[in-house]
Amino acid sequence: MPPKKDRFANGFLYPKTTGLKYKFGAHVGASGGVSNAVLNARNIGANSFALFLKSPRKWDSPPISKSEASEFKRLCEVHGYDPKTDVLPHGSYFINLANPDEEKEAKAYNGFLDDLHRCEELGIGLFNFHPGSSLDGDHNEAIHRLAKNINRAISETSTVKIVIENMAGHGNLLGSTLEDLRDVIELIDEKDRVGVCLDTCHTFAAGYDIRTEDGFDAFIKSFDEIVGAQYLSAFHINDSKVDLGANRDLHQRLGWGYLGLEVFRVIANHPRTQDIPLILETPSGEDPSIWGDEIKLLEWMTGREPEDPEVLTKADTETKKGMKERIVAKPSSKAKSKKRASKDDTTQSKLKMTKRK
Ligand SMILES: [Zn+2]
Ligand SMILES: [Zn+2]
Repeated sequence: MPPKKDRFANGFLYPKTTGLKYKFGAHVGASGGVSNAVLNARNIGANSFALFLKSPRKWDSPPISKSEASEFKRLCEVHGYDPKTDVLPHGSYFINLANPDEEKEAKAYNGFLDDLHRCEELGIGLFNFHPGSSLDGDHNEAIHRLAKNINRAISETSTVKIVIENMAGHGNLLGSTLEDLRDVIELIDEKDRVGVCLDTCHTFAAGYDIRTEDGFDAFIKSFDEIVGAQYLSAFHINDSKVDLGANRDLHQRLGWGYLGLEVFRVIANHPRTQDIPLILETPSGEDPSIWGDEIKLLEWMTGREPEDPEVLTKADTETKKGMKERIVAKPSSKAKSKKRASKDDTTQSKLKMTKRK
């Protein structure tokens, strides 16, 4: 392994803007050690970042050494990241705390708790994860299993906030509706230890139309009414390769997908997106300049109006770039054909805030 700091011997690719209300960042790589993630975040000019605390596709990873943990903390301090508020690790994809199989549930729980312990070793205040799936079991029982495991994890840790990510509504996934998020949180004993991360791609694919300022506002209003404003802890900011309500989780670069650039301009100006991690998970193909450019684009849109001609031109350019990668829905189930039928009615589609299940 090459000495880790040498990669940035000639400086970082992007300047990091300080004093911003909006903490734009990305899910950066942590290969070679978690402290490398800090440098990768700094390299793209991020003001917040996400990372995996262990290999996201393996059950077992070696523990984080004391020296690696202190290097992580030192680099956070040097580069101006507060691990309590600016770092949002992502849990492994295969962890399913709602698994109806007891043995598998226990294995998932151990992996989850291990991640939370890693957060606390690193002084990290937030941990984001997918709420899992009921598989072929009962949805409501799965919600209870998930909440039971979150309660247990809270009792076995001391500070880290467990941040549930909303899902795109595929299959038996939990957390694709605001009602699901509410139902889980209702069962949590220590409510100040739980939060929600809203992924814009998942939100849209789950059927919530957030493409415009009015749509985004209406969604946030529903969030506040159904889940509770105090739980909003982070955003994942991704465009979507699939259309509204398609129930597929396919991230796209900002402005390239069916969401379009406007919602990201809204996020770059909204009172409810200030001072929390706003994490890009857009496809970057390992090229850090894609995220660096997106962060600068988001920062550029702060303070700009929807009808700003430069914003409109930019939105148009990005839409054109993404045209070829748009996925056109194929009606394969009853639900899908129903959705397509209702989409032909534009008024209905505009007003649509579909609740699934
Ligand atoms: Zn996620
Ligand atoms: Zn996400």
